Amino acid sequence: MLDNWQSLVGNLAVVALFISAWDHAQFLFAGRPKLWGQIGFGLTMGCGAVASMLLAIQIAPGYFFDLRTSLIAVTSFFGGGVAALIAVLLAAGFRMGLGGGGEALGVGSIIAAAAIGLGLSRLTRRRIPVLASVAILAAAMALLATIAMVLLQADAGAAVVAQIAAPVIALSFLATAIAGLFVVRQRVFKRERDLLRAGFEESPDFQYVKSHDGRFVAVNMQVAKYHGFAAPSQMVGKSDLDLALPARARQMMERERQILESGKPMIGLEEVLGDADGTQRWFSTSKVAIHNSDGEVIGLAGVTRDITARKLLEEELVLSRNQLSYVLAEITDGIAMFDQSGVLLYCNNRYRNMFPLTANVRRPGVNIRTILRAIAEAGEQKGIPESGLDEWIEKVVKTEALGSEAEVNLIDGRWLQLRTRPTSNGFVLVVVSDMTKTKQAEAALRALTEQLTLLATTDGLTGLANRRALDEALETEIARSRRDGTPLALLMIDVDLFKLYNDIYGHPAGDEALKTVSQCLRQALKRPGDLAARYGGEEFVAILPGCTEDEALFIAEGFRDELKERAIPYARGIGGTLTVSVGLAIFDQADGAVSASDLVGRADAALYDAKDAGRDCVVGWRAQNETRPATGRRAGE
Ligand code: GH3
Ligand code: MG
Ligand code: MG
Repeated sequence: MLDNWQSLVGNLAVVALFISAWDHAQFLFAGRPKLWGQIGFGLTMGCGAVASMLLAIQIAPGYFFDLRTSLIAVTSFFGGGVAALIAVLLAAGFRMGLGGGGEALGVGSIIAAAAIGLGLSRLTRRRIPVLASVAILAAAMALLATIAMVLLQADAGAAVVAQIAAPVIALSFLATAIAGLFVVRQRVFKRERDLLRAGFEESPDFQYVKSHDGRFVAVNMQVAKYHGFAAPSQMVGKSDLDLALPARARQMMERERQILESGKPMIGLEEVLGDADGTQRWFSTSKVAIHNSDGEVIGLAGVTRDITARKLLEEELVLSRNQLSYVLAEITDGIAMFDQSGVLLYCNNRYRNMFPLTANVRRPGVNIRTILRAIAEAGEQKGIPESGLDEWIEKVVKTEALGSEAEVNLIDGRWLQLRTRPTSNGFVLVVVSDMTKTKQAEAALRALTEQLTLLATTDGLTGLANRRALDEALETEIARSRRDGTPLALLMIDVDLFKLYNDIYGHPAGDEALKTVSQCLRQALKRPGDLAARYGGEEFVAILPGCTEDEALFIAEGFRDELKERAIPYARGIGGTLTVSVGLAIFDQADGAVSASDLVGRADAALYDAKDAGRDCVVGWRAQNETRPATGRRAGE
């Protein structure tokens, strides 16, 4: 009884031996087509089954018991059809060679084990955990052994079967479970190793492991390619002295020696190296000492990364940043950038200098509200409302955030233009330009325009309205008179014997006299709507809106009185002073069709009459054969 257990446990050792043999042998198939691995697995396990049969217990002549079915089942379960077929052929062939009464049962159990392995694998793959599948497979093998025992009972008798049933069933289960678990573990290891190897080999960086004496133990494809080798394996055993120029090799070996001795890693050492074609490339290298399980340094692992693209980008970035700072520093405008919440992110010095009273708060990190409050407190800007400061601040913040253009007058008299624009990322860009000069030019231009307008309508010598202004005013007043039904009087004034006055006293004195005459006329016209104009030479016109003939005669006389009072000496003049003659014409509704020039013509005609009447008098116009109203001195008086 014990012998049977011993023999079958020995058989279990055979199972373990071949599984373990496969563990080592499978690396021969790494990187080769999958079919090769399946053939290898089938062959190894087939041989294992044969070895198991060689150590079988012969319970009756021609009847052998061993653990071949466990190996066949595991092979079929994990290796698939090809592996199963090879293992079955080997095992069944060997069993048939042995012959004996149990041949059919033996070969049958081999085929049944393969079928169970294949079937279970198909049924359970990816549906239940692999360890559960292994347990089911082991149970199935125990069941197969049980069935074999039942079938054997007819051929070999119950007593024989009773002796071996327990160890055969138990060890069939155990052998299948152990073999299955071992293969699962192998697969997990292999997957992890494959991942690690792929990570190492396929890394875009240069990765390498060196032994303590500086020789390459493992390198990835990038390293091999860089040094001109077809495969990483060709670099194993080489050192830097074989690959680089002596000086460079010594430099690298010295650094590595320091890492190995100090145990301190070298991280991110940046170097510029020339490529094979002479182009300069940037590399960043990190190297660390690696240790065995006892903590002893056994070599070093290194990673070198090509950082040329990053370096070029960095250089470009620095260059463009420098250019930008230069532009921002040199620009004549003040520039500031605020974030969504109003915090100042950036401003140039020009921006700060434009606001001397609040320059100290205009720095990154300060909120626009604080800056606005400081402006109000310092009184830096004109036009800030005295009350409701908070409302004013919020209003400014809101309009600036939307994009605005404002002109700000500072307390020191400068004018600044503030333009704000929201940027695509929600910030607000502020551009401040000094527009003081523009504003001054604008004011000067406005004053000049006003002066020009005045000049265009004023007579230079007397300051009265000129002929142009008179024409315009007369048209307007006639229209008003016609519309309102109010009267309108026109005086045409001519200085008497003025040619002679000039001849006697000289032209400049004549000019002075004209000024005096104009002053007297201005004084005589008291109502705001009255207009005195120089008609030309020594002739003047007065427009008297709303004046009847009598009122106009009165005003004309007032004017003459004023002049008399001034008494401009004129030896050859009438009565020894300078005098004027005045013609008067009236526009009223009865004369609805009369135009401005008609009215002037009538006043002029009346003036002629005044001259004819002996000068120094006022004569009103009348149609033919009407008596003309007249005042003042008459001929013969
Ligand atoms: P009358 O009484 O008939 O008007 O005689 P008069 O000498 O005034 O005759 P008239 O109107 O023809 O002469 C006008 C003179 O006024 C001619 C010119 O010497 C003089 N005169 C015209 N404009 C000016 C001026 O701007 N300044 C000076 N000083 N004299 C002027
Ligand atoms: Mg005249
Ligand atoms: Mg005259």
